[in-house]
Amino acid sequence: MSDTFFVQQLRQHGYKITPQRRAIIEALAEAPLAPKASEIWEKIRQKYPDISPDTVYRNLTLLVDLGMVQQIYLRSKETSRFEVNIPHHHHLVCLKCGCYYCLEGCLVNEQDLEAAKQRGFTVIGHALELYGYCLSCQEVREEGLR
Ligand SMILES: [Zn+2]
Ligand SMILES: [Zn+2]
Ligand SMILES: [Zn+2]
Repeated sequence: MSDTFFVQQLRQHGYKITPQRRAIIEALAEAPLAPKASEIWEKIRQKYPDISPDTVYRNLTLLVDLGMVQQIYLRSKETSRFEVNIPHHHHLVCLKCGCYYCLEGCLVNEQDLEAAKQRGFTVIGHALELYGYCLSCQEVREEGLR
C-alpha cells in the first residue's frame, strides 16, 4: 500500500495533505489488523502529542466519505474499525469477539441502486456487514449450552 495513491486522491478532491492526515494514512497502512479509531489516535499521539481524538475521527470520516478508507461496523460499543478500502468490499463480523473477515466484491445489486434512483435518491455510498459468530465463538456458545 503506497500512500501516493492517497495523496493523489486527496488532492483530486481539493483537500490538503496535512501531517495529521498523512499520519492517519500511515497508521492505517501499517496496521496488521484494521484498527479502531482509538487505536489510530494512540498511535498518532506518539508523534503528535497535541492531536485530539476528535481530529483523528473527523479526518477518518473524511477519508471514509471520499471512499479511500473503509469503515467496518462492529455493532459493539467500540463501534468501528478502519481499513484501507482498495478494492471496495464487505465483511463478516463476529458479534462476540469482534473479529472480522473481508469478503470479496460488493453485495449491493443493480436492483437496489435502481430502486434508489426511482425514489429520486442520490446514493453516495453504502455499508453492509454480515453479523454472526466466528467458529471459535460458536464452539464456546455450544459448550455453554451443554
Ligand atoms: Zn468470534
Ligand atoms: Zn476488509
Ligand atoms: Zn458494496
